[in-house]
Amino acid sequence: MTEYLSDWVAEDEIHAPAPVLAVVGRPNVGKSTLVNRLIGRRQAVVEDIPGVTRDRIAYDAQWTGRRFTVVDTGGWEPDAKDRAARIAAQAEIATQTADAILFVVDGRVGATDVDEAAVKMLRRSGKPVLLVANKADDDRVEADLAGLWGLGLGEPFPVSALHGRNSGDLLDKILSILPEPPAIIEEAPRGPRRVALVGRPNVGKSSLLNKLSKEDRALVDDVAGTTVDPVDSLVEIDGEIWQLVDTAGLRRRVGQASGTEYYASLRTSAAIEAAEVVIVLFEASEVISEQDQRLLSMVTEAGRALVMAFNKWDLVDDDRRYYLEKEVERELKRIPWAQRVNISALTGRAVDKLAPAMRIALNSWEQRIPTGQLNQFITALSQANPHPVRSGKQPKILFATQAGVCPPKFVLFTSGNLDAGYVRYVERRLREDFGFPGSPIQVTVKARK
Ligand code: GDP
Ligand code: GDP
Repeated sequence: MTEYLSDWVAEDEIHAPAPVLAVVGRPNVGKSTLVNRLIGRRQAVVEDIPGVTRDRIAYDAQWTGRRFTVVDTGGWEPDAKDRAARIAAQAEIATQTADAILFVVDGRVGATDVDEAAVKMLRRSGKPVLLVANKADDDRVEADLAGLWGLGLGEPFPVSALHGRNSGDLLDKILSILPEPPAIIEEAPRGPRRVALVGRPNVGKSSLLNKLSKEDRALVDDVAGTTVDPVDSLVEIDGEIWQLVDTAGLRRRVGQASGTEYYASLRTSAAIEAAEVVIVLFEASEVISEQDQRLLSMVTEAGRALVMAFNKWDLVDDDRRYYLEKEVERELKRIPWAQRVNISALTGRAVDKLAPAMRIALNSWEQRIPTGQLNQFITALSQANPHPVRSGKQPKILFATQAGVCPPKFVLFTSGNLDAGYVRYVERRLREDFGFPGSPIQVTVKARK
């Protein structure tokens, strides 16, 4: 599912991403070296070979248990021509996308005119700014920083990115100016994975439940440390215990007995909400119906992992098989990522294959892409296929982070609104590179104001 948001998203509409720290400063003051220091890696991002693209943009950082994202603005290429204007433009973008800013100067050089121009912009923004005097490799340089007070950003913080001098203190200081990260909800020790079994009437839901509950499988009513809702069932598939949610309805066949479609559909959506992964049952011997499509949409919109099971495979002959494949291609092309299994609840054919498919889908559902890797992907994508120019301007993706999992949610921080088609393109490429089989993913845009 792709949500297209033309403006800043209200924070509670998406998982709030980790707070963002932007590192701003003239070339060669040591921003990349400092970023490497902050993210705890020495590896050389510092390679000033002309013509070599520096894929330094955004990275995950962590200090005393708090996560934040570090953005190296040296990777941005604002459309300004001269050097001073470029740094000012970077500073401006930083103030609009970051929660706090590290303004880095060369402590051995002191403040330059270019620094002063950038600082004006930073101070106007009202965002917290920390002045860092880098290359303070020894006490001599450190003693000589008084002139930097003149920038009006308060006391300069001396560090040596190269040698690591003061970098722990700097990290403490950074945490003090960043907003608290979104609380990470501690998951209780996990019991069995929750599965919803949905499908139109007569597709074979209760038959499948019966099949799964047979052969001593029903004996798993009691799993240590779990409380299972009385309307749920525990079943064993492929050696693993799964919790099928709201199977009471299937056992008692309420849906059909009461005959109200409305009630059945409410119950279905509640089951989908309660589940982590949903098995949508299709009737392989009949055409894919509108009701099937509605169920698929409910699952993707709820953001649940998905497995499609084509039931009654024992009734499928070569002829039907041929047409079914055509139908799947045509009718289900919006979810090419969904896992599919061909089963028979009657004979038990391939019923055990449901478990591997659910495991794959749940893995994707919980997958997290490291920020560095994600931004290398974004850089390559933007270079290979930049966003089209719109009324004389070219919106750019400045950086991206993964804001959450279950399902994976990505936020693109951009310099302007993106076409919906381009957002879909990013989503498609994300899947090409990272996969996510069996799980929906969400891509949202945070365009700067
Ligand atoms: P950027 O252009 O601002 O990203 O700067 P770089 O990180 O590429 O660094 C520019 C140069 O300054 C490199 O040769 C670094 O090795 C050097 N440098 C970075 N930090 C320090 C430092 O703390 N002390 C010294 N002496 N040199 C540094
Ligand atoms: P529900 O309404 O989705 O719970 O569907 P049921 O489990 O009640 O199944 C409806 C009908 O389809 C019953 O007559 C079942 O015996 C039959 N059925 C279910 N699964 C299969 C299957 O895999 N193959 C065949 N041939 N019939 C099936």
